[in-house]
Amino acid sequence: MECFRPENSFYWIAGPCSAESEQSLLEVARKLKESGYCQLFRAGAWKPRTRPGTFEGFGLRAVRWLLTVQREIGLPVATEAANAEQAHILLHHGFDAIWLGARTTVNPFLVQEIADVVAGAPITVIVKNPINADLKLWIGATERILKASPAKVMAVHRGFQSYDEKLYRYSPRWDLAIQYMAALPSVPLLCDPSHIAGRRDLIPEVAKKALELGMAGLMVEVHLNPAEALSDSAQQLTPEAWCQLASQLVHQLREAQALGHESRLERLRIMIDSLDDELFTLLARRLDYVDQIGQYKNENNIPIFQPDRWEQLHMKRSSMASRLNLSPEFVESIINAIYAESMRRQTLIYQKSPSIPADPRLEKALEKLGAG
Ligand code: PEP
Ligand code: MN
Repeated sequence: MECFRPENSFYWIAGPCSAESEQSLLEVARKLKESGYCQLFRAGAWKPRTRPGTFEGFGLRAVRWLLTVQREIGLPVATEAANAEQAHILLHHGFDAIWLGARTTVNPFLVQEIADVVAGAPITVIVKNPINADLKLWIGATERILKASPAKVMAVHRGFQSYDEKLYRYSPRWDLAIQYMAALPSVPLLCDPSHIAGRRDLIPEVAKKALELGMAGLMVEVHLNPAEALSDSAQQLTPEAWCQLASQLVHQLREAQALGHESRLERLRIMIDSLDDELFTLLARRLDYVDQIGQYKNENNIPIFQPDRWEQLHMKRSSMASRLNLSPEFVESIINAIYAESMRRQTLIYQKSPSIPADPRLEKALEKLGAG
């Protein structure tokens, strides 16, 4: 495979989501080895699946296939260990690395069991973030593994489950990844853009952002024929696409470094952007409730404008300002904007199915808010 050789210090983990056959593993591993963009070959032997009855991996057979890859291709190999027994099997068969998946990191009992197995062992242990956005749980799991002192400890940011995430499969929550790096600077953090994106076409932007933020490398799902993959088919790349993406990333990042882009500034901006995302997500959720209240008022002939509620909101405003060390004017202007938008949305609901006449007090209140 023709491709630009990496001369950088990024760490690349690549390979299919699941080990599907010895032949396909050998073929994809050979291509990855030739490309130079794979220091550690990954493939799941035991697959954690949300629903029973879907493909759950080839288990011990897949473990043997991976050992063939290790021996014949000469690439270090890794697979997921979800409990002490699996960790024990992998350690004793000479695996180079194991990873704790998102559904294992959530459980301190399982993490501790695995930590006890790998204590002092010549193996790399990779801790993926828990599926829920709990930074302490992720840090705690890593600390359990660090205490056990296997040969090397790394971590993978694979995104967090969120019902508010609309674009990606898992919400990246870059702010949590940044906080993780700050809390555990000695643990190299890689990003798994495959699981975050959930879609091949979104992998490049996620991968680029991760490296710009100073992450140490990537764990990417690479399959000979992604459309036919037995698991996660939408988010796997062909070896050729991966090779092209990796060389592009190295090139772009080198340019950014040459231009002297300040990664600290970028990280702070990410923190602000992610808070803005949260702010607007919360506002959208607030407005959903406002719509429900509008519906209720309409059905029960209750006027939109409720002077008592208006008073109550304004009372809350001054205590909130002092508690959060914000200027009262700033808090007032935000509350007014939110309130005006709420009234506007409820007015729309009334206009769609008018059951009571317009309320002149509402017009006045909106005028006062500058939203009339
Ligand atoms: C995987 O890497 O294939 C996997 C199942 O990962 P996660 O635990 O992050 O879902
Ligand atoms: Mn997968």
